[in-house]
Formats: sequence, structure tokens, C-alpha cells
Amino acid sequence: LNAITADEGLVRDLASATSADRVSTRAIDRRHVATDQWPAALLSYRQHVPVEQPLCVVSPETVDEVKRVVEVANKHRLGIVPYGAGSGVVGGGWAEQGAITVDMKRMRKVLSLDHDRLVCEAEGGIIGQHLENHLRRHGLTLGHFPSSIICSSLGGWLVGRSAGQFSCRYGKIEDMVLSLRTVDGTGRVSTFGADGPLPGPGPDDLQTIVGSEGMLSIVTDAKLRVWPKPAAEHYWGFQVSSVGHGIEAMRSLLQAGFSPTVLRLYDKADTVIAKRKADGAEDSLDGHGQMDRIASALPAPARESFVAALKKRAGATVLRTALLNPSAIRFFLDRASDRCNMILGCEGSERLSQAMMEGMRTHLVKQGATDLGKGPGIHWYHSRHNVSYKQSPVFLLGAFVDTMEVSAPWQHVVPIYNAVRDALRDRVFVMAHFSHAYLDGCALYFTFAGMSTGDELAFYKETWRRALEAVTTHGGSVSHHHGVGLAKHEFLADHHGPLWERFADLKKRFDPHGTMNRGKW
Ligand SMILES: Cc1cc2nc3c(=O)[nH]c(=O)nc-3n(C[C@H](O)[C@H](O)[C@H](O)COP(=O)(O)OP(=O)(O)OC[C@H]3O[C@@H](n4cnc5c(N)ncnc54)[C@H](O)[C@@H]3O)c2cc1C
Repeated sequence: LNAITADEGLVRDLASATSADRVSTRAIDRRHVATDQWPAALLSYRQHVPVEQPLCVVSPETVDEVKRVVEVANKHRLGIVPYGAGSGVVGGGWAEQGAITVDMKRMRKVLSLDHDRLVCEAEGGIIGQHLENHLRRHGLTLGHFPSSIICSSLGGWLVGRSAGQFSCRYGKIEDMVLSLRTVDGTGRVSTFGADGPLPGPGPDDLQTIVGSEGMLSIVTDAKLRVWPKPAAEHYWGFQVSSVGHGIEAMRSLLQAGFSPTVLRLYDKADTVIAKRKADGAEDSLDGHGQMDRIASALPAPARESFVAALKKRAGATVLRTALLNPSAIRFFLDRASDRCNMILGCEGSERLSQAMMEGMRTHLVKQGATDLGKGPGIHWYHSRHNVSYKQSPVFLLGAFVDTMEVSAPWQHVVPIYNAVRDALRDRVFVMAHFSHAYLDGCALYFTFAGMSTGDELAFYKETWRRALEAVTTHGGSVSHHHGVGLAKHEFLADHHGPLWERFADLKKRFDPHGTMNRGKW
């Protein structure tokens, strides 16, 4: 697949649309943007299943260059795949054979910052953390903190309807965007949203483009609502007796009128794992201390390498055995704790946030929650970005880890939680937390870890199919903030019914030649 690259005419046209040093047909550059972080990529590489490569990668720097690139694609009758930072986890940015990948990372400027109106305008390729750093230097914040903030872009957030950890207060990215500018599949430049300087198609279309996953247009820049950085933040930990108890406590807290910044509930398995990390727990090397005694008898340098080697091997064996017996892990973890942790956070002025935290603590204790004090809340705050980056050892073992985020009205949350666990009981280890809470429901975030001794990719896809079937038959959405991409595509038509057919009308309007992100719809 690597051998098929852009012909000279295409490279010449793209170079004159941008510049020669920003068009690449090198295998390494094409491979770099061929996939995102969807675990199916790693499983495909591991099984030597071919992964499609783009013909070439082009990196525009201005709106005009994006427009010209789209025109070149249409002239050559080729598709375009927009590419932000590649942190997507559902395959939305995967390359298409015979298409051009448009890498947006060179469009990374903050264009304006209006302190008076609290509006910031930035280009679509800017990395989230760079945008937040800029705002912080001016005493402001966007309030958007996905775990991937260091490796995802504003454009990727917007077209995927991203959610950050402080979404209870600031909302999701679609609640922060005021207007945005796009180049659609015809090469037309449009501004959407009430704040747009041009007479655009109207505010309604703003929310059509947000969430369109690069299938209608390329987002070149956006205006966003920003906030003064809060004077004070408070974090607190609680425990409840079960997922059902916790969900009811979350619902009643929000419906009583409190507005926390963070409200998260962990199931028992997630609570046990988080607790071991919070306590700084170190596993005994062999589970009963024999090896620890041998290690302690060795001289210091030898002891260190002995311990490191042993830990690696012992850890790998334990993990492999566990992942091949998921119902056993579930059995033990369900019994290792009879409580579920909750994390609560709020911010604002010192007095207001203090009073809010007091009110919320009283409310939750009345609901039967146990007050654990500040400790677990502060621990969560400091380690909140860690977990997602610790998956490599599992993949190195030949296993996989993945996450599935869906949402549901309150009454469906517990049934969905139980249905997904039951559907995957004998296949993979499952744990979950509940966050991004609203007045009428919340998101469920499942983590799966599994291993197959047969066809890994088939096993992985079947795991997803069973999980999503359990969600949709119990009244949940197929996605809350990761998007649909290739991973959930099959479920979309069923889930949206006739609404899905309207997407064909949008394609006619914004992308009549079918240029944008072809393989994804
Ligand atoms: C460790 C980790 C943690 C994560 N945590 C979170 C989290 O807390 N919250 C969350 O919401 N997500 C999270 N994600 C998922 C991911 O970061 C988001 O989906 C993010 O929005 C993707 O942005 P990106 O710039 O990396 O997009 P990419 O992966 O490059 O692309 C994603 C999709 O957007 C399209 N696209 C990208 N840029 C543009 C553009 N300018 N115009 C049009 N289309 C475009 C692509 O074609 C593709 O369909 C996490 C991912 C990882 C790996």
C-alpha cells in the first residue's frame, strides 16, 4: 500500500496551492497520519493487516491555502481526510487509499482575545494545551480539559463534540463555540454562528458543523467563550454503597440546583484500582513475599536489577492470566470493595465556592454518602491525566485496552451499566465511571481490557459489537464525546433512524462531490 503515492501533477498542484516544502509523499510522513489512536490500528499492525495510507500529506497555513487544496482535490477527483493531532480513538482520521490527508497543525495561531467580551479566536490546528497556556497567561481559561489536552487540536475537539473533565460547569466544546469558519467540500469558505462577521447561513448550522467529524468541511478557525480563571478550587471525595446509590446521589445533587465543576462516580472495580494508586500501593513481587526476602539479601545494585526483572515478568504473567479469565477478575474486584468512590469539585470566588462545597457535602451526606474529606479529591485532581497514558504495557503483552463513552437519561444509566457488563462478562475485564453529568442524565465511560488467543482483531470488533448492542437496546446513545468514526459507524444508522437519512441532504449541500472524509459515511 505504501508504494501508491501521488503523481507528479498532483504534487505540483498541491505545492502551488501551498508550498513545495509542505507537500510530502515520504512513506514516514504518510504512515504518521495513516491512523489515529483507535486501538484497531495497533491490532492491525500486530496481525499484519494492511492499513491504508494517503497518497500524500499537505499542511496548509491559511484559509486560502485550505480552499485551494480542496479545489485541487476536486480537480483530481480525490478525497480529503482532515487530520488534527491524531488523538481520535474511533478511526475518524484514518487515511483513505487514494486520498490526500490535510494536516492542520500548522494552522495554530491565536487570532484575537477580547477581554471585555471574553471571546477568543483561534485556528483549528492549535493544540489544546497551547491554547489554554495562552489564555492562562492572560488570567483566563477555556474550561475545556480533555485528558488528551496535550495531544488534541481545537478542530478535532469541535468536529468530535469533545468533553473535558470540568464539563459540569463549562459544558462540552459545543457549548463553548460562538462561531466557526470552514472550507467545505466545494472549496466554499463560510462562517457559521451568531458571532460571525459575515452574513452566514445562520446560527442553526453552527451545531450541524460541530460534530460533523470532517465529513462536510474543514474547520479553519473558531471563536470561543472564555472565562476568568477562578480564584479558588475545591475537591472532595465521598463513598456510596453502589453504582445505583451514586447515580441517584448525582441526579439529586444537580436537580437540587447545585453546579459543581466536577462530579464523577466510579464503580467498585474502578474504585479498587484507583484506591491502590492513591495509596501508592506496591505489589509484593510474587504475591507472598518470598522474592522480596531474596531481593533484600542482595547487594544494592544487583537488588535493583533483580527486582526490576522480576517485577516485569511476574507482573506480565499475572496480567496475562487475569486478562484470559475476565470473569475471575470481576469476581475478585467486586468483592475487594463494597463501596464506590465519588469525586466532587467546584470553583469560583473563594466565598462562593466554599459555600457551594459545604452545601453539596451536606446534601450528599443526607443522601447516605460517606464524606472522605479533601484527600481523594486532591489526589484525583493531580493524577487526572495519568491513566490514559498507561496502556502500552497491556498492548505489549499482546492484549488490548479500549474505552467506550456513551450517554443516557438517568433512568437508563444503571440498566446500561449492568447490560454492558453482562454482555462482556466472559470476554474482557470491564470497569466504568460516570461523569459529564447533566440535569437529565450523564455519560457512562467503560474501560475494557482483554486478550484473545485467536484472531485478535475479530475478537476486538465482536467485543465492541456486543457492548454497543447492549447500550442501544437499553436506551443509550452510541457516543458522548469520542465521536463515531469507523468504530461505531455501523450502529449509527440504527441509532438515528430517519435522522441519518438527513445526513445525505447535508452532504449534497456542503460536499456534493463526496470529497470530505469519504470512507467514514
Ligand atoms: C489518551 C487520550 C485521552 C483522551 N481523552 C479525551 C477526553 O477526555 N475527552 C474527549 O473529548 N476526548 C478524549 N480523547 C479523544 C480525542 O482526544 C478527541 O476525540 C479529540 O477531539 C480529537 O482531536 P484531534 O485533534 O486529535 O483529532 P484527530 O484525531 O486528528 O481527528 C479526529 C476527527 O476529526 C477530524 N478533524 C480533525 N481536525 C479537523 C478540522 N480542523 N476540521 C475538520 N475535521 C477535523 C478528523 O478527520 C477525524 O474525523 C482522548 C484520546 C486519547 C488518546
